[in-house]
Amino acid sequence: MWDTLIRRAHLLTFDTGSPYGSIRRGALAVQGGRIAWVGPDDELPANSAREEIDAGGALVTPGLIDCHTHLVHAGQRAREFERRLAGSTYEEIARAGGGIRATVAATRAADEEALLAASLPRLRALAAEGVTTVEVKSGYGLNLETELRMLRVARRMGHLAGVMVRTSFLGAHAVPEEFAGRADAYLDFLIAEVLLAAVREGLIDAVDAYCEPIAFSPAQVTRLFGAARKLGLPVKLHADQRSDQGGAALVASFGGLSADHLEYASPEGISALARSGTAAVLLPGAFLFLQETHLPPIGGLRRAGVPLAVATDCNPGTSPLCSILGAVALACTLFRLTPAEALAGVTRNAAAALGLADRGRLEAGLRADLALWAVEEPAELAFRLGPNPLLRRFVAGRSDHAPSD
Ligand SMILES: [Zn+2]
Repeated sequence: MWDTLIRRAHLLTFDTGSPYGSIRRGALAVQGGRIAWVGPDDELPANSAREEIDAGGALVTPGLIDCHTHLVHAGQRAREFERRLAGSTYEEIARAGGGIRATVAATRAADEEALLAASLPRLRALAAEGVTTVEVKSGYGLNLETELRMLRVARRMGHLAGVMVRTSFLGAHAVPEEFAGRADAYLDFLIAEVLLAAVREGLIDAVDAYCEPIAFSPAQVTRLFGAARKLGLPVKLHADQRSDQGGAALVASFGGLSADHLEYASPEGISALARSGTAAVLLPGAFLFLQETHLPPIGGLRRAGVPLAVATDCNPGTSPLCSILGAVALACTLFRLTPAEALAGVTRNAAAALGLADRGRLEAGLRADLALWAVEEPAELAFRLGPNPLLRRFVAGRSDHAPSD
């Protein structure tokens, strides 16, 4: 006997056979937190279920995955937004002590409960839009105590919001004031003390860095990634966002999980990603709010067969976007992804960007992370900015939304 059986559903399986892997009149059975059977309704094997749900033709997708966020932070930077609109550049604001450093000061000043209280509503907002897995980065502490606090808060809020949280260590996000002009010394400290302490506490799933002239050089990132490799940790990179630093090729050379942003990635970088199987994570929220005009090389990435993921990059400065469906819509309108590509970018390819093989598609044996939607066509999920059409979400087979009617 199955735990749950969903019938009369329009399933988007995101298997690789067709753009959505659509099954118009589909059924899906859940047993023990996993998908036990998926296919056309009229091929359903004879079996009973404790709970049967008539989806009434509603769309069912894998639970959505936001594979790049900075959800844990304190404070807000709306005044910088005003300054940028008045003509200041991101680099000018960063050099004047704003940008990441402003959030570092606010985050250091917040204790664990305050940081949790500030961050949890953001995760809950994503969960309310069908998100079941979220990546959360550190990187607003830049000291031992606060980096660990951020990672602990990330894990705690995952339990509270019913979302699987994967944590990335982003100590190499910016050089903190106390190490101003001494980026290499900061990196030594980061590797020898903070990274090791976080690993000892079991707080890290991957190591990330920000490779830009205002942050860390390719040589410095290479050193950090070498330390990650020795610890057996996968890597990912904020790569080629504001300038071509060879970031895509660098993270590919470490067999990285993902290269993120990529507005200025070169053809060589794209080839390297394709060879290493590294996913490209596209972040249209940052593109929008920075009023960037240089598009990431979508056509080149597509032609090379690089898996395209899409994420919110939710952060307090450059991407105040806390809506995964918003990110999908922006990926289509700004980056010209097809709706099928953008939705694969928050399911199948987002799972790849996190190195998670057990989710992101509707397939027997995978985790029963599901989202049911009150829409008629798949493209509707990529078309609007609000309102939220989620009917119900399942996390490892357990529903946390009552049916809406
Ligand atoms: Zn980011």
